Amino acid sequence: MRASQFHIGTLKEAPSDAEIVSHQLMTRAGMIRKLAGGIYNYMPIGLRVIRKVEAIIREEMNRAGALELLMPVVQPAELWMESGRWEQYGPELLRMKDRHGRDFVLQPTSEEVITDIARNEIHSWRQLPKNFYHIQTKFRDERRPRFGVMRGREFTMKDAYSFDRDEAGAQKSYDVMYDAYMRIFTRMGLTFRAVAADTGSIGGSRSHEFQVIADTGEDLIVYNPATQYAANIELAEAPCLIAERAAAGQDMRQVHTPGATKCEAVAEMLELPLTSHVKSIALAVEPEEAGQPVQIWLLLVRADHELNEVKAGKLAGLEHGYRFATEAEIVEHFGCVPGFIGPLGTAKPVTVVADRTVAALHDFVIGANQADHHYAGVNWGRDLPEPDLVADIRNVVEGDPAPDGSGALAIQRGIEVGHVFFLGTKYSNALKATYLDETGKPAMLQMGCYGIGVTRLLGAAIEQHHDARGIVWPRALAPFEVVVCPVGWGKSEAVRDAATRLYEGLKEAGVDAILDDRDERPGVMFADWELIGVPVRVTVGDRGLKEGQIELQGRGDAAAAKIAVAEGLPATL
Ligand code: ATP
Ligand code: MG
Ligand code: MG
Ligand code: MG
Repeated sequence: MRASQFHIGTLKEAPSDAEIVSHQLMTRAGMIRKLAGGIYNYMPIGLRVIRKVEAIIREEMNRAGALELLMPVVQPAELWMESGRWEQYGPELLRMKDRHGRDFVLQPTSEEVITDIARNEIHSWRQLPKNFYHIQTKFRDERRPRFGVMRGREFTMKDAYSFDRDEAGAQKSYDVMYDAYMRIFTRMGLTFRAVAADTGSIGGSRSHEFQVIADTGEDLIVYNPATQYAANIELAEAPCLIAERAAAGQDMRQVHTPGATKCEAVAEMLELPLTSHVKSIALAVEPEEAGQPVQIWLLLVRADHELNEVKAGKLAGLEHGYRFATEAEIVEHFGCVPGFIGPLGTAKPVTVVADRTVAALHDFVIGANQADHHYAGVNWGRDLPEPDLVADIRNVVEGDPAPDGSGALAIQRGIEVGHVFFLGTKYSNALKATYLDETGKPAMLQMGCYGIGVTRLLGAAIEQHHDARGIVWPRALAPFEVVVCPVGWGKSEAVRDAATRLYEGLKEAGVDAILDDRDERPGVMFADWELIGVPVRVTVGDRGLKEGQIELQGRGDAAAAKIAVAEGLPATL
């Protein structure tokens, strides 16, 4: 590529709504341009990085035996009704009608469509296992799109779906994907952890997130540095809503409803019979207030009230389709008031004595995850307002001994770039996706699903790899690997010749190079490429050429190195 034929749209200033460095740098480097809230144009230089991310993902997915297909962005509502998520998904699901008044959705994820494909295509055990994936535009009407491509409304995701004969096979498929993810993020040059995670609205039981470690991450991870032991509790969205409500002058407390499995585990831990009357148990954090310690509340959401209302963040008040159980109801439905539950008011949440609950949560965190791997980390939730709540959670957790006595727990922030789920038969059951087993009997397909945030990865990588001058791309993701910068392009034929030969040589050697033939002053040229973050710059100037030298500067290196032209470029370039 020649820069004169490319589009370089670098900017001196970042837009005022760009709160974090990746958003600022992506805009200043000309990678993205905002079209609407959470909706971006990916400019040529940004798209080059997206294509590199996709290429790595494709290679590793294909290597792991997954098959690429492409499912539509617009999906008929009927499938979502069949799975139950038409009702459950909440306002993140963008719904629309066609000219005939038929309902459609813009896909936030594709479990329904892939299960529909599977029930039509997979008939026999002989066709299993199968793993299908696509890299496709997603739409989620996020409550709070922000941070540029990190929390967009329209974004690109790689989503894969595995189909197996039995649970053991599905667990194996899960492990294959887990390993592929480890390879993918390692190849991208990222520092990351696999952490145990909540299954959220996707459903399922076993789940890991892949978290890129960065202070600006919206997630909070608890881990044991000594053993990599870690545990998981999700207090997702709670703190954010507390903050929103506090800003609105309301006194409502915020809630997060854990996924069904987590609910059961909490219920078991607290020795509460989880009856059909109780749809969900929710945990809420109340930030420190007027000298009171942080309080954690236990809320019981009744079966006749909508869980998804809670999930969707419609918690502005009790009028929003659910309310908290009263003492009388708890007595009626549980047959007793569990001892640790404090005095109950009619319109008040069930209050749990704070330190007892913190201890119980802590045990839960530890206990629930011991059975599975020893994780490298865990997700505490997201949208945590700085700095109070994080400090509170740190106080509760950090420095606490790990349950196996191997060290002290620590906390760190992360960006969720990937997520793997074991789904079991949740979707195959709902959509009746069966195959004929070896005895000729129909059996349910066992499923898993596996997502990677393609566009979010750009932001995450930049959060980890930047300096005061701009982006410092890991080689594997860089829009160009090498830039050839001629000083005096317009004036010197010797410079033009040498630079062009160098550039052609690099291209022949398979290096993704760009020749900056814009005839800009060196200062402008260097500032552009440093901002854009190209890993290697080769400078060719008359002065150097007279001494038979060109200059090689690594983006992350303090000083440039001079090399003799006659020697050509080092093989490692
Ligand atoms: P989050 O917790 O950040 O909202 P999620 O758990 O809702 O993410 P998944 O359903 O697990 O997301 O989707 C798989 C991947 O898609 C995520 O791990 C993330 O990398 C990416 N992703 C999800 N939401 C967004 C978004 N709004 N913008 C960009 N990428 C996203
Ligand atoms: Mg989400
Ligand atoms: Mg998440
Ligand atoms: Mg997720």
